[in-house]
Amino acid sequence: MNDFIYEVPVERVSAYRGRRLIVRAHEPATLITALADEEFERLVGLRLLSLAADSEPLNAWAPELPVDLVMADPGAEFPLLYRHAELLEHHPVRVMIPVRPGFARAVKVAVSLHFAVWLEPGQPEPALIEELAEVMAFYLRQPTVAQPVEFFHSTLLGFYHDDPAPLWVVLDADPECLRHVADEGAESLPGRLAGVEATVAADADLGEWIARVLATADECRNCEFLPSCGGYFKWPRRDYDCAGVKRLFGLLREAAAELRRDLGSAPV
Ligand code: SF4
Repeated sequence: MNDFIYEVPVERVSAYRGRRLIVRAHEPATLITALADEEFERLVGLRLLSLAADSEPLNAWAPELPVDLVMADPGAEFPLLYRHAELLEHHPVRVMIPVRPGFARAVKVAVSLHFAVWLEPGQPEPALIEELAEVMAFYLRQPTVAQPVEFFHSTLLGFYHDDPAPLWVVLDADPECLRHVADEGAESLPGRLAGVEATVAADADLGEWIARVLATADECRNCEFLPSCGGYFKWPRRDYDCAGVKRLFGLLREAAAELRRDLGSAPV
């Protein structure tokens, strides 16, 4: 049996007792009540779905358990990040930000508060590619940025070490090890693969998923960024034009080469 990590709503925790879990809820207090008897070593993390909620009850609870703050509307919700800053004294915290118009401001506020950032890029249209390029420049060039901004951070390191990780791994959508449980209880593949029927063996590794399902478009098979992407941007719309995202991958590859040059010429 695969030891999947299940991302479950707090109301369904009892059905997944003993499994590895990421638990999501709108109200922190419901998390604490539902998880009172859980063995924390099987808990992978918490996801808080409402930034308007009071996260104070989580401060002294399960220290060091990772917490994700999930934004729905970054352009409107970024001021709410301030009220969760104290969480960082007790937990590693990521802010999950969808790439929608105005998301750059949310990234800058999150970074200024020392939160890690995780971008859900979707299948960005040209205007959002420009905003992504602006945020990437901020991440790469602004000396005050000390927290990772994903997917830039892992992709940059992948180029730097010549050891790329596909975005399925970087962006928590790896079908080899993750399953999503909907509010009504239906299980599906994670993230943008939700609703896709699994057509590989249950124990298939990510390489097999990529070769047989995720990156079967001719454009992916011939793409220089396949090892860093894995076909991620061809889902869910298979006719998505990748010109813009290839430009972003190219900028990260250049930045990694520049970093290698700078470190190679630094005095020892
Ligand atoms: S950038 Fe586009 S073409 Fe290249 S691997 Fe990713 S999804 Fe496929």
